Amino acid sequence: MDVWDLVASAARAFPKALRDLPVAPAVEVEHLRTLLHEKFPFDRSIPLDELTADVISMLNAWTLHTTHPRYFGLFNPSVLPAGVVADSLAALFNPQLAKWSSAPLANELERLTLRWCSRKLGFDPDSSVAHFTSGGSEANLSGILAALAFLHPDYLITGLNVGVVRPAVYVSSETHRSFIKIARMTGLGSSAIRNCRCSADLTLDPDTLRRRICEDINEGWKPLVIIGTAGTTSAGAIDPLGELAHLAQSFGAWFHVDGAWGASAMLSPRLGTFLAGIELGDSVTWDAHKWLSVPVGAGMFFCRHPEAVKRAFDISSSYMPAEQTSDFVDPFSTTFQWSRRAIGLKVFMVLAEHGESGMAKMIDQQAGLADQLRLRLRENNWQIVNSTVLPVVCFSHEDIRSGATSAAEIASVIQRRGKVWISEVVLGAGESVLRACITSIHSTADDLDCLISELEFAREHARAEGA
Ligand SMILES: *Cc1c(COP(=O)(O)O)cnc(C)c1O
Repeated sequence: MDVWDLVASAARAFPKALRDLPVAPAVEVEHLRTLLHEKFPFDRSIPLDELTADVISMLNAWTLHTTHPRYFGLFNPSVLPAGVVADSLAALFNPQLAKWSSAPLANELERLTLRWCSRKLGFDPDSSVAHFTSGGSEANLSGILAALAFLHPDYLITGLNVGVVRPAVYVSSETHRSFIKIARMTGLGSSAIRNCRCSADLTLDPDTLRRRICEDINEGWKPLVIIGTAGTTSAGAIDPLGELAHLAQSFGAWFHVDGAWGASAMLSPRLGTFLAGIELGDSVTWDAHKWLSVPVGAGMFFCRHPEAVKRAFDISSSYMPAEQTSDFVDPFSTTFQWSRRAIGLKVFMVLAEHGESGMAKMIDQQAGLADQLRLRLRENNWQIVNSTVLPVVCFSHEDIRSGATSAAEIASVIQRRGKVWISEVVLGAGESVLRACITSIHSTADDLDCLISELEFAREHARAEGA
């Protein structure tokens, strides 16, 4: 069979076939390694159609199907066809986005897309900058680097050894852990990540934070960045962004909003209002590969201080003199990556196909389904423990709280059965609970029924085991 026909028919069949596949693979690492080792000694050539058919069947069997309508897991979405088409075209044409002149169309489509997204955040695209990143971690890194370049320009030359007084980055216990890695990579060191206790609603309380900052200043720290999260990873909590922005301003610190998942809510007129204050961020992280239903990896970084971003990344080499006119910039000299694939193509194609109202509808629909889930859980005596308008539901049960079973045990029974997939998470005060996130635009009320019955089964099962 022609290999392209094979791929096309697999792409056509997969979304429907997916419903009948187990969400989670049953596989032992040793088994898989031995099998692959024996199958692929690379000592002969394999016809591409045969190889492709084999890879497709292996991917079917040994993937946690995050695009499954009953995957209620982390922020890995079901993917819209436009994103799959775009990623395939990006691989086919392989445009190199380091320089503008190597990929005029791909670069301009990214610019168009980012300017539209900037406006959705409440940024002025003419006075701010934006670029695509591999994901939220790189966008968060860009935010910290821009803050250092803005507040401590000497750092770019001397590193943190000279001159800079112990810059501090303020986060909450619910902030994404990528900032720990970033602190290591930038030389700030993980001790610069100043953890602030959350309020009961899992948000960063401005008064607690102000006290923490004052104590730190007395000990010789200097506030560099305050991180506000618009939709925390564990529980979808939205920090009080406006208040945090003002606090940052009063201490002369940078305000970075991590909206990796939640910023997409800005496309919904109803949900967007809950993210008020995001427009006050000096920089913002927004992942398209989470709630915009495009394949990984596609992150976005937005910053209101173009000169800081330029200072952080500006470089030129003899073989690639950076061209920067007022008309265009070369991405390699204004972003972290050098050779780069056309990340933005899939975001452009998804937005262009569905338009603003189509995107808003998908986002509202997922939030609505999470509201239904909360209702169904309560009807079945599960207790909702987080409070958010975003589609992440954290919940517990008397049987868990009394110690008759545990969230981990229930999640593991459910994952093994493979009908649905949810996870366990530890929230602020250390309570371990269950977490279900609506990440697929194809999830339905029937899928919620299946989740509820799996939960009931696992709870009964765990009780019986414990007894
Ligand atoms: C997922 C996530 C990140 C990390 O983004 P990646 O795209 O996985 O690198 C950062 N912050 C938050 C709030 C997230 O949810």
